[in-house]
This record gives sequence, structure tokens and C-alpha cells, in this order.
Amino acid sequence: MSQLKILLDESDIPTQWYNIVADMPNPPAPPLGPDGKPIGPEALTAIFPMPIIEQEVSAERWIDIPEAVRDIYRMWRPSPLFRARALERALGTPAKIYYKYEGVSPAGSHKPNTAVAQAYYNQQVGIKRLTTETGAGQWGSALALAGQMFGIEVRVYMVKVSYEQKPFRRSMMQTWGAEVLASPTNLTNAGRKILAEDAASAGSLGIAISEAVEEAASRDDTNYSLGSVLNHVLLHQTVIGQEAKKQLEKVGDYPDMVFAPCGGGSNFGGIAFPFFADKAAGKQVRLVAVEPSSCPTLTRGQYAYDFGDTAGLTPLMKMYTLGHDFIPPGIHAGGLRYHGDSVLVSQLYNEGLIEAVAVPQIVTFEAGVIFARSEGIIPAPESNHAIRACIDEALRCKQSGEAKTLLFNLSGHGHFDMASYDRYFSGELEDYDYPEEAIARSMQNIPKIAGA
Ligand SMILES: *Cc1c(COP(=O)(O)O)cnc(C)c1O
Repeated sequence: MSQLKILLDESDIPTQWYNIVADMPNPPAPPLGPDGKPIGPEALTAIFPMPIIEQEVSAERWIDIPEAVRDIYRMWRPSPLFRARALERALGTPAKIYYKYEGVSPAGSHKPNTAVAQAYYNQQVGIKRLTTETGAGQWGSALALAGQMFGIEVRVYMVKVSYEQKPFRRSMMQTWGAEVLASPTNLTNAGRKILAEDAASAGSLGIAISEAVEEAASRDDTNYSLGSVLNHVLLHQTVIGQEAKKQLEKVGDYPDMVFAPCGGGSNFGGIAFPFFADKAAGKQVRLVAVEPSSCPTLTRGQYAYDFGDTAGLTPLMKMYTLGHDFIPPGIHAGGLRYHGDSVLVSQLYNEGLIEAVAVPQIVTFEAGVIFARSEGIIPAPESNHAIRACIDEALRCKQSGEAKTLLFNLSGHGHFDMASYDRYFSGELEDYDYPEEAIARSMQNIPKIAGA
């Protein structure tokens, strides 16, 4: 009988992060300032510590993971790789399905992989407080956990609609010592401006980012921390793919296709980029980012310079975007509601080196339930997107008789998202294709950059 759980020792935790920039055919498009000119690293020092800024712009293939960070990774890493035999049987597919399970972290997702590194580097330069935003609550939880481990105060601007809908995510952050505010607040200019226009605003990720960035930029003891999108975040997540490669090697396998849900791109980059290194060296492997059809950034957005937040406080980044004032519909995968995407993921997609698919909400939950009823683990709604795309491929294999090897990232568990499952079971979930007119409308507001 072959292994169901493929496990590694603590000594197998990677000692370095993999920087995909070294293997990309073209350097990443630089961030631009308000004048449309590339910004230097010094423009970021008001909100990020120097070691993080260096990683953000680095082209070195390997970057050492500090011992203090690896020490904390040891609490849950290496994470297990599973062979999904029960799911394969349930589908009747000849495909071999593997999944890497990141829900074993204390916060229940992959996000602590970067939160711990970010808290560490901020502590090293003497920062006492971190601000951040959270939508679904997973990133806020991860940073609360990491901040508490390094003695850093954490203030979380939580999108108001989730603050009200997910009280237990809030309690979780508070248990780890973080302060949680419902955004928009009246503590920042960005928040006050939104409230003046709409006192009942439900908030959005873009607004919460504006609030957190504004506060961090205005205080010397405070920095800002972002849970996705930026190059250093994807870098930190590459422990996932490095471990997965080692685990598959142990059982003599290699994936034909790798799937991950894609919000800002961090868990996708985390699992897929280490395989991209092989692809760059000539190996055949398909890397597929899976997004919701209600927030179809890669598949229907425009590849253009845009702001990372609603108020336009961040540098301009070249990415697939639905427009920075995009207010997503109330979909039930909160972690996949961002208007933009990682610059690295966007560029690779634009150059045809990775793939993207969008999946509708109802069949996505259906896939999650099929998975839970065969493999046991209840996936995060975000992870269900990768499961849907992987199941679709496994069913194509059933038709064609091909025995492909498929790998997906189970980015987190869904224990705090059972309300979304309730809505699926009671038939209240709807499929929602983001309308073309709405995309066109918010695309009119993206900045006009000469020559970009
Ligand atoms: C945040 C989150 C995502 C989406 O974010 P990425 O940066 O694209 O990875 C996916 N799954 C889970 C469980 C998350 O918490």
C-alpha cells in the first residue's frame, strides 16, 4: 500500500526562500510613483523595514530564512502532503491527486508563513506596532499570531461586513492580542472620507488598506504589513512548493499540473513558483491559478498600472486589475475578493507562462463538499476553487483515460467559514458573473500612465 500522508522531518524545512525573479525571462515591471516614474526603495521606508524592501526588489535566486523564523515554522512545518485516494475513488478517475495541506498552521491557513517573517524583520529594526487590513479575517489572524510571538502590537482594520459576519475571527485575533477595528473608521482621513459619502459603508479591502497604510505612514514606531500581492510575500510562501517537491520526490512522483486558489497570488506563488524553476529549466509542468468568476481579475481584468488600494495611497503596480474602486459582490470566498493581483503572477500570466481559470461559486462549494465527504477535511471556501479546477481535470482524465498527476494547494481549513457552507446547503448562494459594464466602468478610473 502506498503512503497516504507523505511527511518530512523538521530538518527538511527549507533553509532558503526561492525568488522566481531569477528565473523570469523579463524583470518584473517596477512600481511607479504618482508622477509615473519608477520609485526607489527609499519611497517604501515609511511603512516597511529595510530587509523586506531589499527582498521586494531582489533578483537573487535564493534568500536565507533566518533561524528565528525557521524555529517558528517548526511549530507546524513541514506541512503534510496527502494522496487523495478517497477523492480519486469517489470521482472514479485514473488521475493521481495530491494536495499540500496548509490548514495545519495555528491560524488555519498558509498566511503565517509570511506573517512570521514580516513580524521578525520588523522587530529586528525596532518597530513596535504593525497595522494591517483583513477581509475574510485569515490575514489578520496570521499577523496577530506572529506579532504576539515577536512582542509587536498589531492593529487590524477589518472590512466592516466581515467584522459583523465573522465575530469568531475577531475573537481569534483578540486572543492573540491584536486590536481589531471595523473599517471604514473615523480614525483616518481615508476612512472619514468614505463615511462622509456613505455612513453605512460596508467597507472593502481597498478601503481598509488605505486606512492601515495611512496610519503606518504617519507614525515612526509603526509599520504596515501586507498578507499577499507583494513580491516578498510570495517569496516567503515558497516554503510550500519546496516542501511539496521533496514530498513528491519521496514517492517518486512529479505533477503534470499544479492548482491553487488565487486572490492576490500568494499561496499560488508559494506552491507553483518552485515548480516554475523546473519549467524554466525545460521540464513540462502546467501551473494553474484559480479565481472566482465573481472577481475574475486574471481572466477578465486589464493588464495595466493601477493602485493597490481605493484611496490611491500605494505606488502604482503593473497587474491584472478590475479597477482599484471595484467593490466586489458579496461572494463567499472572502480571501479572493481583491481587485488586483501580484505583479509577478500577472506578468507570468501575461507572458503565457502560467494559466488561469475562473470558476462559479455554487459548483465551487459543491467541489468542497465532495472533498470533505471523501478526504474528511473541510476546506476554506477559497481553497474550494482549486479543488473545483482539479476535480474538473480529474474528470477530463476519466473521459480520456489519462492518468495525469495533479497537485493542488489546500490553502486552509474552513472551520470559521461554516456560515458560507450553511448558505450553500440552504440554497441561498448564487452564481454571479461580474458584469462587463461594471468592469468597464471601474476601468475608466485607473490612472493614465504615458507609455505604460
Ligand atoms: C487569503 C487566502 C487565500 C487567497 O490569498 P492568496 O494571497 O491569493 O493566497 C486563499 N486561501 C486561503 C485559505 C486564504 O486565507
